[in-house]
Amino acid sequence: MPLDLSTIPIVDHHCHSLLRQQPQDDHGFRNHLTETYFPEMARDHVQHSLVYHWAIRELGAFLGCDPEPDAVHAARRERGVERLARDVVERGNFRTWLIDTGYGTDTTFSLDELRGIVPCEIREIVRLEPLIERLIVEAHGFDGFLEAYREALSDLRSAGYVAMKSVIAYRTGLHIEPVDRATAAVAFAPVHDAARRDGRLRIASKPLLDFLIVAAVEEAARQEIPIQFHTGLGDPDLDLTKVDPAALRLLFSDAYRAAPIVLLHSGYPYARSMAYLAAMYPNVYADFGEVQLFVAGGDLRAVARELVGLAPASKILFSTDASLVPELYWLGAQAGRRALGQVFEEHIADGLIDERTALEMAEMILWRNSERVYGL
Ligand SMILES: [Zn+2]
Repeated sequence: MPLDLSTIPIVDHHCHSLLRQQPQDDHGFRNHLTETYFPEMARDHVQHSLVYHWAIRELGAFLGCDPEPDAVHAARRERGVERLARDVVERGNFRTWLIDTGYGTDTTFSLDELRGIVPCEIREIVRLEPLIERLIVEAHGFDGFLEAYREALSDLRSAGYVAMKSVIAYRTGLHIEPVDRATAAVAFAPVHDAARRDGRLRIASKPLLDFLIVAAVEEAARQEIPIQFHTGLGDPDLDLTKVDPAALRLLFSDAYRAAPIVLLHSGYPYARSMAYLAAMYPNVYADFGEVQLFVAGGDLRAVARELVGLAPASKILFSTDASLVPELYWLGAQAGRRALGQVFEEHIADGLIDERTALEMAEMILWRNSERVYGL
């Protein structure tokens, strides 16, 4: 039996808002149990994944209905998104959600709406790349743009944020290199021209992004506010060879030691890299997150074992990375608590730790570390 962690609350330090219009049927629901956007995957394949079968069983138990797709979806429709979200937060024992508002903003609840729905604290994480893109579209030149960017990041806590987040992994990869201002200005010109012409931008200039993300890390150090990095798995957009968190070596230098650097998504499949980095650098934290949903049928316990085995418990944070559908928070919490509980039980059985120590470590991972690191 895994050590029972259900009474320990969760501060979910990286998740997203909920869709106003929830998926109504199994096909719509399956789209949310995969990160791929190719429609034939949800149509033909997701229903044959372990994650799907487990989700239906787990949700049958959660909703008090048969563990069958039709029964689960009927129960979801009957409850509606607001009640589902409330039940998930209460029964999942969530204390706080730190929301990355970087995507889906037209179709999801605003944070104020969310505060009216769920009985937990809601705080905001600002995503850097959409901010950069908006400021480039609005800018008249590099100097003005850079001034506006630095201004936007100059006092993040007063602006209501608890952290920054970068998805540079998706755009140009984690191998950030030092770029000087003159080189960044040269890279800015064609990006700016295209942005002005099109009225929008998806930034993918490596010198420019490297320069701007390092500037954000400098702000993180100055304000001692965390900066989260997407690392490891994601949607098919990313190049899996460029998302090993070890590639962020430039940021682990002494110049940025005051910046709390949070490596997201368990770095999967580079979980060992991530755990190692958290074990080496005092300002680097490892997220036990996202894998609960997408690796739930496979390596989840192994990921938890790697993280707990290599990084001190004080350096591991917990998230679901759930988004859009309330039950994903429930699934993430259930699978995450279970995997941690299994790993702790193994170590208790092996005589490495006693139960009291295991529970203290679980509390650190599930909520205490995040309260400290984000200053909640
Ligand atoms: Zn996320």
